[in-house]
Amino acid sequence: MSEKTVAVDPAVLSGLENYRNLPAAQQPTWPDAAELAKVQAQLSVLPPLVFAGEVDRLRDQLALAASGKAFLLQGGDCAETFADATADRIRNRVKTLLQMAVVLMYGSSLPIVKMGRMAGQFAKPRSSNDETRDGVTLPAYRGDAVNGYEFTPESRAHDPRRLLDAYHTSSSTLNLIRAFTTGGFADLRSVHDWNKGFTDNPANARYESLAREIDRAVRFMSAAGVDAAELRSTDFYVSHEGLLFDYERPMTRIDSRTGTPYDTSGHFIWIGERTRQMDHAHIDFMSRIRNPIGVKLGPNTSVDDVLELIDKLDPNREPGRLTFITRMGAPKIREALPKLVEAVKASDANPLWITDPMHGNGITTKNGYKSRRFDDVMDEVRGFFEVHTAAGTFPGGIHIELTGDDVAECLGGSEMIDEATLEERYESLCDPRLNHMQSLELAFLVAEELANR
Ligand code: PEP
Ligand code: MN
Repeated sequence: MSEKTVAVDPAVLSGLENYRNLPAAQQPTWPDAAELAKVQAQLSVLPPLVFAGEVDRLRDQLALAASGKAFLLQGGDCAETFADATADRIRNRVKTLLQMAVVLMYGSSLPIVKMGRMAGQFAKPRSSNDETRDGVTLPAYRGDAVNGYEFTPESRAHDPRRLLDAYHTSSSTLNLIRAFTTGGFADLRSVHDWNKGFTDNPANARYESLAREIDRAVRFMSAAGVDAAELRSTDFYVSHEGLLFDYERPMTRIDSRTGTPYDTSGHFIWIGERTRQMDHAHIDFMSRIRNPIGVKLGPNTSVDDVLELIDKLDPNREPGRLTFITRMGAPKIREALPKLVEAVKASDANPLWITDPMHGNGITTKNGYKSRRFDDVMDEVRGFFEVHTAAGTFPGGIHIELTGDDVAECLGGSEMIDEATLEERYESLCDPRLNHMQSLELAFLVAEELANR
């Protein structure tokens, strides 16, 4: 039986090229146009990483979160690297997210939409084009999809062949995620197993006691004859910042069922704080794809910005289409967020609001590390809940930089990581991430906030 296909409107195709006429911030300067063209031709015929039907399903789930009937957990590295796309590290991140999701689900009695900053988070916006070390200036590291971290001219040169490596690394990462989350590993009857291999600590102990309760509940359901598929596997979506047009455009394909474009590089794509200029390329391109779109909102976002973003990215006011990811900083959120939330509430839009309590809380330690204080992260989360509770809107999710590994990058937490410890276990090439224990602690805090609403 042949599938029904829909003719493509030529205006849709030409619209996808419109970004080329607009200013685009944060793009690489590839040295070799012929090499880039070759890479793009290859990318454009490689299989999609995600499918339109999955993207549509995610949009429906985000619509539930926007209306208070689900909660989004989005997390992963600031910057994934090719070298760290190993089975162990991917498994630890998936386990951490599954554990956080269980804590959140148990505390809130809501379905948790699980989403990795994974399988595509290989490109980074930077505040400076260059980096200087000991009098030597080289191009800044822009993520493994663009150049290498090693501080040599060869490594820091922009190389378009890295876009293909980004595709293949995303593909193998996603393959393992799919195997883990549908092949038995995510079975709710294995809640204890997800905690294995992590060092003993207070958050793990608290998790273990919650896992015992879940175990009892699941055994009770089994005894009562319930054997739901929902207990055995889970949906798990992937997301990244849609930064590089030379990657996102060739990965954007027309869905034969509907004749509409989907960016098949990931289920959910977000626009960063540095590339959301209203008349620039990123907003234009993302407005034309069907994927649910996120936009980061920093502390200086105005009411007009927010209303204009809604008009540009969600003109049809489609449930689940648009997510605002606020990253205000703990000292600012209680002042900066209420006016935005109130203005949107008074409009006809219903975006999903989630908190990124990481990016407004950066500090540099005395010994020179980019870090964040766990207390500031927690405080921004509390502020986010306070503001939404006061406005009567739903605080629909969290967006976290985390790793399942036992790193020391953020200060504090019950392990009380201090500045000296950063020197021993700091691995991130970009922003500092919560480690496994800090991630679980944060999940318990959010679960309490959700339970107390
Ligand atoms: C990020 O998510 O890593 C990032 C760069 O965030 P923002 O755009 O909010 O600064
Ligand atoms: Mn970051």
